[in-house]
Amino acid sequence: MPATIDETHDPKLESWIESANDPSTDFPLQNLPLATRVAEHDGEVWQSIVTRVGDSFVNLNHISAIAEDLGLDQARWTLFDLEDLMTSGNWPAIRKDLQELLAKGNDTLRNHAEVDEIVIPVDDEELLVPLPIGDYTDFYASVHHATNVGTMFRPDNPLLPNYKWIPVGYHGRASSVVPSGVAIRRPKGQLAPSEDGGVPSYEPCKLLDYELEMGFFVGRENELGEPISIDKAEDHIFGMCLLNDWSARDIQKWEYQPLGPFLAKNFASTISPYIVTMEALAPFRCEAEKRPEGDPQPLKHLDSKANRESGGVDVMLEVFLSSAKMREQGMEPMRISRGSFKNMYWTIAQMLTHHSSSGCNMQPGDLLGSGTVSGPAREARGCLLELTWDGDKDNPVPGTQRTPLKLPTGEERKFLADGDEVILRGYCEREGYRRIGFGECRGIIEPAK
Ligand code: CA
Repeated sequence: MPATIDETHDPKLESWIESANDPSTDFPLQNLPLATRVAEHDGEVWQSIVTRVGDSFVNLNHISAIAEDLGLDQARWTLFDLEDLMTSGNWPAIRKDLQELLAKGNDTLRNHAEVDEIVIPVDDEELLVPLPIGDYTDFYASVHHATNVGTMFRPDNPLLPNYKWIPVGYHGRASSVVPSGVAIRRPKGQLAPSEDGGVPSYEPCKLLDYELEMGFFVGRENELGEPISIDKAEDHIFGMCLLNDWSARDIQKWEYQPLGPFLAKNFASTISPYIVTMEALAPFRCEAEKRPEGDPQPLKHLDSKANRESGGVDVMLEVFLSSAKMREQGMEPMRISRGSFKNMYWTIAQMLTHHSSSGCNMQPGDLLGSGTVSGPAREARGCLLELTWDGDKDNPVPGTQRTPLKLPTGEERKFLADGDEVILRGYCEREGYRRIGFGECRGIIEPAK
């Protein structure tokens, strides 16, 4: 069952960390996302779990060290790293403790001698990937994205017959998942011969793209050979982040048949450094996207009443682009698309259930990507491959016949150029609740080596 709405979502909750009370912050007291910070202290490098509140990090390991002093349950607060915290099952209680400690009017932590070491100014550059990612799997759960891309690659047969029966996915590469802010080196790879029967070339990718996605983290394992049922799937999902699945379209076109994406996707994937937990997302759950008339209903093991009624997550997602020239001229990044995660054909519970339905054992720290989030409208297309495509079935993937994006400098983009920065943002809003956000997921393209 999805996490329920309780007193931790009360919109009136305010913090003595004043920046948390700004209505535009991504990080009010109702959010409390988790991240891993690395910092030097006394000549040594330390990693710690932090939550973010307004413009401050709050160090959970430091709170753990003085838990008794703060009147907290020492057993509950014995935590070492984020995996520890995820698997302990103590997060909902720790979330409540944190809200109390940080609430306006509570001076226990505020007046503590070590408060300045616990509540520290934000520096996003100190954040790592939140925890070691064991396995990374990427899905393809937007029917709009799958239809658009299918039309380009296979005009006569855009949506393969399995699409409406299984959440299609592939096993990705965990080692190259990087946190927001890490520069992305343009990959090199084999590109198709320019004429039939010719020889392929090995050179820098020419059609580099981003993919706007959401990621979600597995927080509880299942035994090998024991599938997770759809009714239990939400118990195994700890939280969500933003994900940019950088994609080399020309490498992809040459390699993807017969076994699917490989080097076109394995050179880098960027995630936002904060895990927004399923508890924080509770007020923003919504109905799963209704299937159009004539579409098959999911098989029984991928279907449940709870999933139909509240399996969706309403996150508004935006993509911004800034070229090197725009930054030189002091221009703000330009928003190039906008759409909601609620329009996905498959829910996160269905993706996880399907992943384990063979008996595959999922493990804490596994990252699952949703696939490119595209909505029905043109402005909701989640990658340049779709955004610059004019919808003509005779207009194939290679970059020649596309309608380029126009940047405010007069520059044009069909795909990403060196120096371009892609910024993903995501937030949730609903009448009667505090707005919460995911922070940012950024990456700048560096020239190939
Ligand atoms: Ca993808």
